[in-house]
Amino acid sequence: MAQLYFYYSAMNAGKSTALLQSSYNYQERGMRTLVYTAEIDDRFGAGKVSSRIGLSSPAALFNAQTRLDEEIAAEHARQPVHCVLVDECQFLTRDQVKALSDVVDNMDIPVLCYGLRTDFRGELFGGSQYLLAWADKLVELKTVCHCGRKAGMVLRLDAEGRPFSEGEQVVIGGNERYISVCRKHYKQAIEQGSLAAIYGQHKPA
Ligand SMILES: [Zn+2]
Repeated sequence: MAQLYFYYSAMNAGKSTALLQSSYNYQERGMRTLVYTAEIDDRFGAGKVSSRIGLSSPAALFNAQTRLDEEIAAEHARQPVHCVLVDECQFLTRDQVKALSDVVDNMDIPVLCYGLRTDFRGELFGGSQYLLAWADKLVELKTVCHCGRKAGMVLRLDAEGRPFSEGEQVVIGGNERYISVCRKHYKQAIEQGSLAAIYGQHKPA
């Protein structure tokens, strides 16, 4: 029985690396995978999932209009698909999460989604909200704050390196503008408008 998985985390927890490893594991056994990533993510060029440790895979792109169930059904008819993997799944719409659950339930193809749980304001992303609600398996990929606690929150930094928690939700692009911290240090950083609580007097180089 296929299942819908949501692998979620803060930034820089190795989501893309985990996705590429899973895809490779299927391919190693002679099975075919379909990899998707959000069109908004142009960090590494269009149509590609890349990890920070140097692995990469071609990927189909999705935006809010993409009919994922229809595309996957067409690919599956052409040549059997054994697993679908979706990076940046926080950008899926409610309808697209539903469509992916249809792929699992009606086509019996496992769907593995990887993405951020919350934005830099601490609010759920739309895609993540429905994946949290409907996925069969929720798996947290952990990363740590500088204090050693689990880092579940994302801080957005302005050009001067000061954290802020207002503005557009889109969290994409240079990793240097976002850091993952624990909830306690997220609150302190927002309250103080600086990273002093996290790094003390000294910011790392
Ligand atoms: Zn901390």
